[in-house]
Amino acid sequence: MVLRKVLYFIWKLSMGSMATKSAFMCGGIQIHDTSCVLCGCAKETMDHLSTECTIVRAVWWHFCVWTKIPIMVDISSFRDVKEGIDRMKGSAKWKNVLVALAYETLWRIWKAHNDRVFEGTPFSVLHIVEAVEEHCSFGLKTEQHIKA
Ligand SMILES: [Zn+2]
Repeated sequence: MVLRKVLYFIWKLSMGSMATKSAFMCGGIQIHDTSCVLCGCAKETMDHLSTECTIVRAVWWHFCVWTKIPIMVDISSFRDVKEGIDRMKGSAKWKNVLVALAYETLWRIWKAHNDRVFEGTPFSVLHIVEAVEEHCSFGLKTEQHIKA
């Protein structure tokens, strides 16, 4: 259910090679304002963009409500999200689905952030949540189609 482009993104993220403003600074490219483009309250790092940002927290809040899992409050990197899911009660199969959805959510957060930076598209929490839900129901429908 996880698309190849999403898996590639997660892999790049785990390698620490995503192009945030802070990463650009490390690479020697001068950017005067390194604050988060979404909240403006903190340095824009990948951990901030994945989980710490107040705006992004709203996405995860919706994610938890939608999947009916406890609200995750103690998250400061995507690793925490995955570990939080691993610690939850439930079957391994269900947790695999949750992790796949979390990957999809994270990828859409990153994509919406880039659209905001490069195209000036407003960052919409609701749009991200709806896109993930749509992707999920499409996947489930395909599965049912295969079973039938
Ligand atoms: Zn922020």
